Amino acid sequence: MTNSPFTPGIAPARLDRAELETNFSDLHPPLDGHEALVAADRCYFCHDAPCITACPTSIDIPLFIRQIATGTPEAAAKTIFDQNILGGMCARVCPTETLCEEACVREAAEGKPVEIGRLQRYATDTLMAKGVHPYERAAPTGKTVAVVGAGPAGLACAHRLALHGHDVTVFEAKPKGGGLNEYGIAYYKAVGGFAEAEVDWLMKIGGIALQTGRPLGSGLTLAELREGFDAVFLGMGLQGVNALRANGETREGVVDAVGFIEELRQAGDLATLPVGRNVVVIGGGMTAIDAAVQSKLLGAESVTVLYRRGREAMPASRYEQDLAASKGVRFVFNAMPVEILGNGAVTGVRVEYTRSEGRTLTGTGETFEIAADQVLKAIGQTLEGAPEGLELAGGKIAVSGAGRTSVPGVWAGGDCASGGEDLTVTAVAEGRDAAEDIHAALMG
Ligand SMILES: Cc1cc2nc3c(=O)[nH]c(=O)nc-3n(C[C@H](O)[C@H](O)[C@H](O)COP(=O)(O)OP(=O)(O)OC[C@H]3O[C@@H](n4cnc5c(N)ncnc54)[C@H](O)[C@@H]3O)c2cc1C
Ligand code: SF4
Repeated sequence: MTNSPFTPGIAPARLDRAELETNFSDLHPPLDGHEALVAADRCYFCHDAPCITACPTSIDIPLFIRQIATGTPEAAAKTIFDQNILGGMCARVCPTETLCEEACVREAAEGKPVEIGRLQRYATDTLMAKGVHPYERAAPTGKTVAVVGAGPAGLACAHRLALHGHDVTVFEAKPKGGGLNEYGIAYYKAVGGFAEAEVDWLMKIGGIALQTGRPLGSGLTLAELREGFDAVFLGMGLQGVNALRANGETREGVVDAVGFIEELRQAGDLATLPVGRNVVVIGGGMTAIDAAVQSKLLGAESVTVLYRRGREAMPASRYEQDLAASKGVRFVFNAMPVEILGNGAVTGVRVEYTRSEGRTLTGTGETFEIAADQVLKAIGQTLEGAPEGLELAGGKIAVSGAGRTSVPGVWAGGDCASGGEDLTVTAVAEGRDAAEDIHAALMG
């Protein structure tokens, strides 16, 4: 190894392969059979369980935990998949600390919830390891549906439509399906090629043709899809990135955090990935945390997250913040970049402290400089390349009911559609619900 965390500039192989392997291993290792029984035993099987209400896909959590407790994890998995066909990925990536586990009565009583996420993983992994697909399609309806985007929203929609007997074609821009499960989720949350394996498993339902490298917008129009199919679902996510609006944004070494993570997720060998010695991440959401943690794990000497508001306003949960802090990431709150410094390549960031009055944010005039050879922008994504003619709301495709857009016969869901939090599980719920609405419309 030639490089170390102290090598100046942006360099690969700051850590040796063994350290990288340890750093990027499974964040929450799976429960074994005995551990799962012990964890399941803590559930009170509440009537009107608050954990179900807190789950965007409304999984019957007490039922699946009881099925684990009675030694039938495959039945538990079926309970999960009935509501959330990407239950395997959601078990790994859901911010359970702000969803089901936050609502769990044992969290309120003892500050220690039932480990719903890990139990869900135990059940879904057990069934998926058998390689079987637990659903059979209904008799063919002769109806066809086009789905744009093979992310969580598109896949959940396609699976539910296929289940009802419709023929689905998924048009995906990228070379692989999975959306951000494949290209965006932090490496240590979905190790071992799980995203790809999950897509393969989901496709076993049959009746879904996945066409990769087929972007809507270049050589494929919404008008053609409306003409050629009985219904269209748009699940294209958010492909654009917000601008920093600070001087020097175009300096070498200033990159979009989602692109940085995508490169990391697709790297065959983490030792080949270059990372800065001093990394500054700008933003306050999951992307900012993931980019910061992964930079540190790749061997950056210092990683600082700059967030323009106070800690309490940060979109990333306290759990995520603590995870980052435990890996050595530093947070500076109430701070915004005003200039990216350097001569060609970035050498630092000039930062101004901020003051919030209600939703209004103003600079205090007090500034400081922080050394950086890499700046990762994680300040939000935007809708890009949405077909013309669709009404928008708040920069996303406007939808009403279960994902109906302003254009007849066209539905939308997931990150690209208005309403709902930008989470994997929300995208799955919206894709599934749109599929039910499409089914009702086609068969009505
Ligand atoms: C870095 C990062 C980390 C995240 N971590 C988490 C996490 O830990 N937990 C969590 O719950 N959520 C997380 N999220 C949010 C979550 O990934 C998204 O909310 C979710 O993936 C949205 O699903 P989707 O199907 O709407 O969009 P996407 O996953 O973005 O999928 C959209 C798909 O459409 C394709 N596409 C786009 N345009 C076109 C076109 N014109 N034609 C054809 N195909 C097209 C894209 O290539 C992509 O495959 C994270 C997001 C990011 C950016
Ligand atoms: S709230 Fe907690 S204890 Fe009650 S059913 Fe849900 S997981 Fe079990």
